Amino acid sequence: MRKCVELSKYIPGKSIEEVKREYGLEKVVKLASNENPYGPSPKAIEAFRSYSDLHIYPNPDYRELREKISEYTGWDVERIVVGAGIDGILETLFKILIDEGDEVIIPIPSFPYYHILTRLSCGKEVIVRRGKNYQIDESIFEAINKKTKLILICNPNNPTGNAEKAEIIEEIVQSTDGIVFIDEAYVEFSDFAVDMDAENVVIARTFSKAFGLANLRIGYALLPKWFVSPFKAAMTPFPISTPAARAAEAAIDDIEWMRKCVEKIKAERERLYRELKRCVEVTPSKANFLFFESPVENLAEELLKRGVIVRDCSNFAGCKNHIRVTVGKPEENDMFLQALKEVLEC
Ligand code: PMP
Repeated sequence: MRKCVELSKYIPGKSIEEVKREYGLEKVVKLASNENPYGPSPKAIEAFRSYSDLHIYPNPDYRELREKISEYTGWDVERIVVGAGIDGILETLFKILIDEGDEVIIPIPSFPYYHILTRLSCGKEVIVRRGKNYQIDESIFEAINKKTKLILICNPNNPTGNAEKAEIIEEIVQSTDGIVFIDEAYVEFSDFAVDMDAENVVIARTFSKAFGLANLRIGYALLPKWFVSPFKAAMTPFPISTPAARAAEAAIDDIEWMRKCVEKIKAERERLYRELKRCVEVTPSKANFLFFESPVENLAEELLKRGVIVRDCSNFAGCKNHIRVTVGKPEENDMFLQALKEVLEC
């Protein structure tokens, strides 16, 4: 094995089936992975099911999908690339950019896979603590230097849910020659997207969250023009299956489905926020999850016993005793709230 491989490990959450078995429960809800509880547009499922040429490799250009994404985002189709989720886009980026000792700046807490990829690439993690309300603040500029190859900005941020101001992102972009990666996995739940275009900016999005297609692994990114060719050379040749690409195209055609899901989730997010606020210190969220500090150490475990799976963020950098809960359907959120109130007696 390469010498950096042993440094990385992934701790998966428990599945509904495991929790049912372990605790002898009949009803379990999973509010741990920020999925859309309503699922994808039925038209996307239909498009996926109706594709049968499964013995033929996909067309590696993914032109139709890129055109649909361009229609949806307004981005230049020639600068759009696709990947097996944002995870796949990130992997390609690391393959291209990070040599041993190259510095990767991660404002923490943030998405754990950033840390894993940095370690696997033998890169050097440069950790910057977020400031008030988990906003990235001026302290990030002390971390930027000539060895900075990549700066990972999750906006809105997972797990905290806050969004950054456009000005700070602009300042960061201007203060480095490294690539600034803006992860907009949750952008559809936010009020605005940072409208940023520069030679060192990569913006990535996904069909896994608002579009409800997490299992199909479809991500995409807007690259600066000069970066398209190296990206295509380094990426896996067929990151997305054709039925998955067809499903994503149909999901964009039925954009109303996604927008309705987002509206329902946002309304529930605000209700959940108000309810949580009575019991814990919760961070306002622009995403489809809420983040709070637990007053007790074993909250995630106690909720599991009551059939509610949330994300215990204790193993995220800088998140001891913090919990992230995905906004589910009203009845799922009720089950979570009831269990929480029981455990915390609030
Ligand atoms: N970025 C962030 C911030 C995420 O939360 C996630 C998924 N949990 C991803 C990227 C990966 O998304 P995808 O399913 O598109 O690989």
